[in-house]
Amino acid sequence: MKISIQIMTDHENGEPVVIKPIMEFTKKALAPDTLGLTIEDSKSLLKNIQTECVDQQVKHYIGNHKNCNLCHKKLKLKSQNSLVYRTLFGKFKLPNPRFYICSCDSDNKNKSFSLLSSVLTERSSPELLYLQAKWASLVSYGMTSTILEDILPMRANISSIFHTTHKVAKRLDAAISEEKYCFISGCENDWNKLPRPNSPLVVGIDGGYIHAREGRNRKAGWFEAIVGKSLHETQASKRFGFVCKYDDKPKSRFNTMLQKHGLQMNQEITFLSDGGDTVRSLQQNIAPYSEHLLDWFHITMKITVMKQMVSGLQGDTPKDSLTKNLESIKWNLWHGNAGKALDTIESFSEDFYDENLDKNSKRYKLWKYSDEFYTYIKLNKHYITNYAERHRYGEIISTSFVESTVNEVISKRMVKKQQMRWTKEGAHRMMQVRIATLNNELRDEFLRWYPNMNSINNNEELQNVASYNGSLKLLN
Ligand SMILES: [Zn+2]
Repeated sequence: MKISIQIMTDHENGEPVVIKPIMEFTKKALAPDTLGLTIEDSKSLLKNIQTECVDQQVKHYIGNHKNCNLCHKKLKLKSQNSLVYRTLFGKFKLPNPRFYICSCDSDNKNKSFSLLSSVLTERSSPELLYLQAKWASLVSYGMTSTILEDILPMRANISSIFHTTHKVAKRLDAAISEEKYCFISGCENDWNKLPRPNSPLVVGIDGGYIHAREGRNRKAGWFEAIVGKSLHETQASKRFGFVCKYDDKPKSRFNTMLQKHGLQMNQEITFLSDGGDTVRSLQQNIAPYSEHLLDWFHITMKITVMKQMVSGLQGDTPKDSLTKNLESIKWNLWHGNAGKALDTIESFSEDFYDENLDKNSKRYKLWKYSDEFYTYIKLNKHYITNYAERHRYGEIISTSFVESTVNEVISKRMVKKQQMRWTKEGAHRMMQVRIATLNNELRDEFLRWYPNMNSINNNEELQNVASYNGSLKLLN
């Protein structure tokens, strides 16, 4: 059996419809591997449709733009050039004639212009940029190339996927407004007139580490990135993130995420964080009705570390009473009693500290850790709340939900199983595209840049051609 596919183009200018055969299949006896299209068939089909479509559109455009816009006289051809344009369905060399500027246009300082270059200002189609960036944010550049080449009639060069992803990230970044010290505007009077927000926002912020590639040193170490997640009762959660000491508008970036969750000045927000300097300054001056809490998860983790250190101590140390002290510290912090907890931490370290301790000894290390813990609690004592009570009321006390965000934004793509080392810039950019993908916002951003990207077939009759014309029902 022979199946032919033709394409019909109607330029809607009175000229006859152009009909071109684009593909012909010969189908052998019915079997699983002969029924319908193969991957290769589908790739050729797409490529042929694209070729014909692009060819007709370009011809149509050139045909309509051969005359001067002002006096309608025929333009004089200077040279016949070409332009390479990449799409999801193939790379094309398009005719791009260069015309002399018409003598009637005396304001124009140029002598000539290329017809297509002024319309096709980019050399890759938006759909191509979109899929490259989206997949590269989810899996490695190499894997992205494999996926695209597997299912589409195109060559996906790894370095071009890399450049596309960076380009998209830069564009996403450009939408973030200038950094400000304070994002609170108006006064209490105005705020109270606003409609009441449905539910409070809970925002968790935490840090993660990425393998560095800077300098000649292969063992350059790690650098820190901050990641946050905003939880909303009825909307999907939103994420944000940036690389510390690289990003110059972290607060604005943070504010943008909150705006997407409908932040208004009378919004109640609970910020949970580990209390580091960067995250603490980030959450200040964002919303007037906010509470800032030290995350319980980070407190209890540090106490657990000390418990393990105590159990590893040797010699005549009062292990039982040290463990009991740690329990008391934890209990006091759990009930929001930071002052009492600080006193207990002090007496805890006094119990085993001795100024002659060897700096490599387990005791000294424990003392150092407890000393740092003391400073940590002291610096953050205003952010310590009665966790027990919050917990009883079913309120969030921990950023463990951010732990999973650190994992999905940074670790999965940039740390685990990926041998790659990152520059701060590269990691920051990758994070921006990945966050847009995870937040389900990447397509919307593209639609903002290219409003016609979603042009689906608006002819319902043709959309339903399978069920309309044939006896078969096409399911989805
Ligand atoms: Zn003219």
